[in-house]
Amino acid sequence: LIILCSSVFVILSISASFFLSKRMMKPIIQSWNKQTEFVENASHELRTPLTIIQNKLELLLTEPQEKIMNKFENIALSLSETRRLSKLTSDLLTLARADSAETQLVKQVIDVDSFVNNVCTPYIDIAESQDKHLWLKLNSKINIEADEQRLHQLLVILLDNALKYTAEQDSIGVKTYVEDNKIVLEVTDTGIGIKKQNMKYIFDRFYREDRARSRDTGGTGLGLSIAHWIVTKHNGTITVNQNQHKGTMFKVRLPKKEITKP
Ligand code: ADP
Repeated sequence: LIILCSSVFVILSISASFFLSKRMMKPIIQSWNKQTEFVENASHELRTPLTIIQNKLELLLTEPQEKIMNKFENIALSLSETRRLSKLTSDLLTLARADSAETQLVKQVIDVDSFVNNVCTPYIDIAESQDKHLWLKLNSKINIEADEQRLHQLLVILLDNALKYTAEQDSIGVKTYVEDNKIVLEVTDTGIGIKKQNMKYIFDRFYREDRARSRDTGGTGLGLSIAHWIVTKHNGTITVNQNQHKGTMFKVRLPKKEITKP
C-alpha cells in the first residue's frame, strides 16, 4: 500500500509540475514569438527602402559624368526613401522603449482645449493647401494631468492619418468634450474609411489595410500602435468606428483628473 501511495504521489507531483511549468511557460513563449515576429517585420520594413536606395545609388555611379538634373528622379526617390527610413527607425525606437518600460511619462497640468487648438492650428493651413477642410469643436473646458509631448505625438498621428486617408473636398473634425466622467478627444474624417472587419487589426504593429497606398503616403503601419501605447500609458482607451456617413472616427478617452476651470 505504501509503494502504491508513493507511486501515485510521485505521478501526481510530476504531472502537476509539468502542467504548472507548461502554464508558466505559455506567456514567455507568446512574448518570445511576438518579439521574433516584430524583429522579422522590422527587418523587412527596413530592407525595402535600403534596397531601393542602394539600387539608385549604384545607378548614379554607373554614369558619373551625367548632369545631376538628368538624375533628378533617382536622387529624389533616394531622398524620400531616406526620410522613410528615418521615420521608421524613430517609430521602432519608440516602440522598443515602450516594450522595455524604459519610457516614463512626464506629467503636467494641461488645458485640453487650448492644447488641442495649438496642435491643430498649423494643420488647418495644411488641410486647406490640400483642398480639405479642418474644423474644431473644443468643449471640454477641463485641465488634465498628462505628458504633453506624448499627447502631442498622439494627436499628430491621428491628424496625419486623417490627412493621408482623405481626398480633396473631404473634411476632418477634431472635438473635445466630457462624457461619463472622461475627457474625450475625437478625430473624425470623411475619407476612405476602414472596413469593419479590419478594424480589430488597426492597432496591431505593421498592420496596413492597403500596403501600397500606405507606403505611397509614407506610412509605416506603426503610427496607431504608438497611439494605442500612449493612450494606454495614460490609463485611457482608444477606439475606432465608422464615421456617421463616410470615413473614420477615432475616439480617445482619458481619465479626468482635472482642476475645473472657473
Ligand atoms: P500607417 O503609417 O500605415 O498610416 P497606422 O498605424 O497609422 O499606419 O495606421 C494603420 C492603418 O490604419 C493604415 O495603414 C490605414 O490602412 C488605416 N488607417 C489609419 N487611420 C485611418 C484613417 N483616418 N482613415 C482610413 N484608414 C486609416
